[in-house]
Amino acid sequence: MLKKEVVIIGGGYGGLRAIEFLAKHKDINITLIDKNPYHYLQTEAYGYIAGRFDIHDIAIDLDKWCRGFKNRVNFVYEEVTSINYEKQVVEISEKQISYDYLVIATGAQTNFFSFIDGLRENSYGVKNLQRAYNFRKDFEDLIYKKLQNEKFNNDGDINLAIGGAGLSGVEVAAEMANVIEIYSKTIGERAKAIKIYLIDASDTILPGMSAYVISNTKKRLEKLGVKILTSAFINNLDKSYIYFKNGKKLHYHFMIFTGGIKASSLNNNLNNEKNRINQFIPDKELNINSSKNVFAIGDCVEIRDINGKILPPTAQIAEKSAEYVANTIRKRIDGIVNKPFHANVSGIFIALGGKYAVGEMFNFIKVKGYWAYLLKKAITHAYYLGLHLRINTGYKNRIKDTL
Ligand SMILES: Cc1cc2nc3c(=O)[nH]c(=O)nc-3n(C[C@H](O)[C@H](O)[C@H](O)COP(=O)(O)OP(=O)(O)OC[C@H]3O[C@@H](n4cnc5c(N)ncnc54)[C@H](O)[C@@H]3O)c2cc1C
Repeated sequence: MLKKEVVIIGGGYGGLRAIEFLAKHKDINITLIDKNPYHYLQTEAYGYIAGRFDIHDIAIDLDKWCRGFKNRVNFVYEEVTSINYEKQVVEISEKQISYDYLVIATGAQTNFFSFIDGLRENSYGVKNLQRAYNFRKDFEDLIYKKLQNEKFNNDGDINLAIGGAGLSGVEVAAEMANVIEIYSKTIGERAKAIKIYLIDASDTILPGMSAYVISNTKKRLEKLGVKILTSAFINNLDKSYIYFKNGKKLHYHFMIFTGGIKASSLNNNLNNEKNRINQFIPDKELNINSSKNVFAIGDCVEIRDINGKILPPTAQIAEKSAEYVANTIRKRIDGIVNKPFHANVSGIFIALGGKYAVGEMFNFIKVKGYWAYLLKKAITHAYYLGLHLRINTGYKNRIKDTL
């Protein structure tokens, strides 16, 4: 039997979900390529940077995960620099990998807007593990120094600014505020000197979300002592101050920027139709480049709902687009035409520090507090468990291979 070669670029939420679906078919060979050796659980980044989760809670070894499919999925740890659609090859360092079907799932990166002078140089980010790790390290370092330093009370406030009050910004702000409350057990009253500012240019937090989610998130953030600055346009930053367009300024020690994304840098090298944040603009079956065998899923592509509204990039949509594309590839191999992709958001759960969350499902189930936290935890746990079952099989297979 001549097998079809499916190449997937990017082992994020979309890439892994596509593999889970495609690996069921014995007539398909799968190759996953990622520039990192791990799958990064970005949705849990808020807990990692606040020190509530450890590195093993948010990073999964891709090689072992792929081995969990018993030699059916090949992992290549390389950065893809270009794609030759005509020759049907993906280019990595000096090599080329051929495909019959290609799925681009390379996600997005923080958009450190170039029009905000000093933003990139002076900010941390959460969309990439390296930047999240740097923040955690530097913040812990500060806490440790303060722990040793009696003078902390007289040093003035330590301001942590979070730029962008979307989903990731509010989660980071709430978790940091919650952890700082816990720090009071370590550094006593000195913890009170750590202040959290959540800044957004929009006139509300969580722009685009429902009134229920916005008002309950706001209440929770205020209860945790987060200072919310809306309609606050950042003009520029230097090492010590954030300067706003209205002439005001804020002294800060740490800035985490969550205020925007743009598609991953691979998109820059490809000559496809793109939007203003460099996401591919696909056709109704998520094909790009007018090629029926090249697909894009997740954050690297613009996805619209049935009414034509652009959906915010989430792991949920990355996974739904992955399932759709995996099914479409199966159908194309079998010569069956698939229906267009109709994305819809089933719900949203926002972690708001400790055992508290706010959530909404199917537009009518609304929950907040401990119950919402339990539901969010159940969703995360199911995802994590699935990854670990694969990894455990991968370890066993690796041991067998080396015997
Ligand atoms: C703090 C935070 C909280 C969030 N909370 C939620 C939430 O509660 N619910 C939700 O649904 N979403 C949430 N999101 C959004 C969600 O994490 C993203 O939408 C999701 O990660 C997108 O999945 P993806 O597969 O498109 O890309 P990613 O998960 O970003 O994966 C892309 C992969 O491609 C690889 N890659 C990139 N370029 C190349 C290249 N050139 N060559 C090889 N490999 C490459 C990367 O290394 C990476 O492994 C949150 C995000 C953050 C930051």
